Amino acid sequence: MAQLSFRNINKVYPNGFHAVHDFNLEINDGEFICLVGSSGCGKSTTLRMVAGLEDITAGEFYIDGQLANQMSSRDRGIAMVFQSYALYPHLTVYENLAFGLTLEGIDADIIDEKVQATAKILGLTEYLERFPRALSGGQCQRVAVGRALIRKVKIFLMDEPLSNLDAKQRVTMRSEIKQIHRSVGATTIYVTHDQTEAMTMSDRIVVMNAGRIQQTGTPYELYFYPQNLFVAGFIGEPPMNFIRGTVEGGKLKTEALELDLKPIVDDVASIEGKKVVFAFRPEAITVDTKGKDKYVIDSQVDLTELLGDTTNVYANVGDVNVILKVNPHHAPEMGSAFSFAVPYNAAYVFDAETELVVPSSLKRH
Ligand code: ADP
Repeated sequence: MAQLSFRNINKVYPNGFHAVHDFNLEINDGEFICLVGSSGCGKSTTLRMVAGLEDITAGEFYIDGQLANQMSSRDRGIAMVFQSYALYPHLTVYENLAFGLTLEGIDADIIDEKVQATAKILGLTEYLERFPRALSGGQCQRVAVGRALIRKVKIFLMDEPLSNLDAKQRVTMRSEIKQIHRSVGATTIYVTHDQTEAMTMSDRIVVMNAGRIQQTGTPYELYFYPQNLFVAGFIGEPPMNFIRGTVEGGKLKTEALELDLKPIVDDVASIEGKKVVFAFRPEAITVDTKGKDKYVIDSQVDLTELLGDTTNVYANVGDVNVILKVNPHHAPEMGSAFSFAVPYNAAYVFDAETELVVPSSLKRH
């Protein structure tokens, strides 16, 4: 296991592109960390700097307290799993697993012991004599994980390892990788653009955008306490609803709405006259509009989608499109008027200019 420290890490590529800005993070021994963000936000660059495949332009990177900026990849004690499985097609699963150890000149008996143990963890024992072409995508990815696992490293790096798999295999591999992590305990950094993967697998998530960390926290913290609009919109599926307006007399005003913000913002005078974003999650609404401590909002239904356990309702509030998750038994008709409630403790307010959350609007969550 290993403890990693990133202190003001920056990456500027030779063409002058500044891909990672002031990346600061402490990763504890054995932690499972996901770097998540849209394509091009600097996740792989960060991972490659950890692996020693990319120079660090500025800042300090430590492994177990030892400055590692100049440390060779070999000495870092890492294993990496990529999106493409990169298995040797002419070698069997056994030989693929054994390959690295064979190169290191390790005794065949010891190799056999390790291959058998690794195959057992990954459920590959009965496939050891097969060639990669006779395996499913999920099994190939398991062999790729096995090749990393067999080396007993202290740091696991995974770059979108599941993106070549179909939806069902992804869900299965997600829990397998978690279980492997639990039994092996290596510090793991996992790169993905998929927020569901990050939410389900991580101890902590690092949300990145345009080369900068937006927020670091547990899945729970990011879901309930997003610090800015980017994180609020990125975490959660379907995404959080945003209604933009101006604060006048302590109320959010839009063409279609007037909502009193005093119940959810302590110092409402501090945002008077400002442009703000009123936000709530699709799954946080209720169809019961009676009672207090909730906002009641009128909408027009454009479209409904029955998913089975829930119905997605696509509606508009004036000229703003919203998505609402509703119990199928209470779903409105397409084209009808639909009033729904947002409980005070499920509403957020963001400053539209700084894009930061108004802190007191988090207090009730
Ligand atoms: P992600 O993994 O989040 O998709 P990357 O770390 O691969 O993003 O890339 C971050 C940014 O750096 C992208 O805009 C990409 O085009 C740029 N980039 C990646 N590699 C190089 C390179 N060798 N030279 C210049 N720019 C690069």
